[in-house]
Amino acid sequence: MLNIFNSFTQKYEILKISLNKIVTMYVCGTTVYDFCHIGHGRTFVFFDIVSRYLRYCGYTLQYVRNITDIDDKIIYRSIQNNEHVLDLSNRMISQMNKDFSALNIIFPDSEPRATENIDIIINDILKLLENKHAYISSNGDVMFSIDSYPNYGMLSNQLIKKLKVGVRIPKSFNKHNSLDFVLWKLSKKDEVCFWDSPWGKGRPGWHIECSSMSTSILKDRIDIHGGGRDLLFPHHENELAQSNCINKNFVVNHWMHTELVIIKNKKMSKSLGNALLLKDLLTRYDSESIRFFLLSTHYRHPLYFCEENLKKSDMLLKKIYLSLRNIDFNMFSSTSTENSVFKIHFHNALENDFNTPSALSILLNISHRINILRSQHDNGNVVILANLLRELGSILGILLRDPENFLQEIATFSYHEINNINDLIQKRDYARRKKCWVKADEIRRVLLNMGIILEDKKYATFWRKKK
Ligand SMILES: [Zn+2]
Repeated sequence: MLNIFNSFTQKYEILKISLNKIVTMYVCGTTVYDFCHIGHGRTFVFFDIVSRYLRYCGYTLQYVRNITDIDDKIIYRSIQNNEHVLDLSNRMISQMNKDFSALNIIFPDSEPRATENIDIIINDILKLLENKHAYISSNGDVMFSIDSYPNYGMLSNQLIKKLKVGVRIPKSFNKHNSLDFVLWKLSKKDEVCFWDSPWGKGRPGWHIECSSMSTSILKDRIDIHGGGRDLLFPHHENELAQSNCINKNFVVNHWMHTELVIIKNKKMSKSLGNALLLKDLLTRYDSESIRFFLLSTHYRHPLYFCEENLKKSDMLLKKIYLSLRNIDFNMFSSTSTENSVFKIHFHNALENDFNTPSALSILLNISHRINILRSQHDNGNVVILANLLRELGSILGILLRDPENFLQEIATFSYHEINNINDLIQKRDYARRKKCWVKADEIRRVLLNMGIILEDKKYATFWRKKK
């Protein structure tokens, strides 16, 4: 049974499953005003593990991850760059897709963009106005009234208390309460990107887009709602308030938040100028080693970045691949007691609030055991454990490459080659999930022409370069 720490109740809870084993998951995606950094890598690799594990366990997952492609930061950056807002956001989305494919992050089932859902958002704001949860402020913006929602603050309870006691919020004459937030923001004179609305030309606030996009696709039940820790307040608090006021039946069963990345004892952030971009990191390290590193700390603990830790992950991954060399994975492989024990420990680790560092240590133990069995010429058990190692690794989105290829080409495989191959394999996996066999075969042919041979297993697709 999957035990998840719920940020709302601050307790471990068993994953509540709806009928038919369908799990819905909404993760707040990126605001595309700049390139993705390692903090994005951490959050989205983590939720990729959640999605892979749920599917491995036989659940039907509906995974939605939005894209915020209009907001103040995007407008400000587009003016700085002298670039149209949509050109900027499209450029950033394209780079994000390359980074995420290189990291082998599986595409969500839906990736709604705020600018493509303006009608739905306007409709929801109309409902909030009608139910008196919103008002039009003196400057014409539409605001959410937190006083109209008695449960405001429940999700991020401690933070609200701190806010009320410690931090002074600048008073605004446009607001009834200083914590009220904008639902529809009227455009300034020179702004080039706006939409018509009953309140005038403008654009939606950041929080309402997530309420509208999540509920328009997943309706009134989100089993897992995720995002980075920094989104808990005010973003998720506001989102929950809006969604509950639009639809009384709306429920989020589990809130999950990933912790921050720390560099040299400081929180990594763009404003501090210490953000580490994925595209830069991916040209210096193998993408799989970065993925291994991101999983080496539990998602609810801060991740301390330093080159030494990344190099250590790289070394450990090589060690595992080394133990998988010269093994015929197609050889008949049965099961053994030892195999079952490792498997149970691995699943226990993931079922215990997705303890990925513990899951990785079990992979290392299996690898170590394979080396011992190899020295004892126990080939039968070597093959059994090697197959298990690849199967469990695939749940973490690693060990999908041919060991020889990995070890020989780790230094020469470019970031562009890797993201291209992962991207095509993912598109093929998606086509196979949707039973679009013609499309899947077509992608296999494209990969073959690139010299990539696929090996399909029930749980994952492995690949190697043609000799
Ligand atoms: Zn969001």
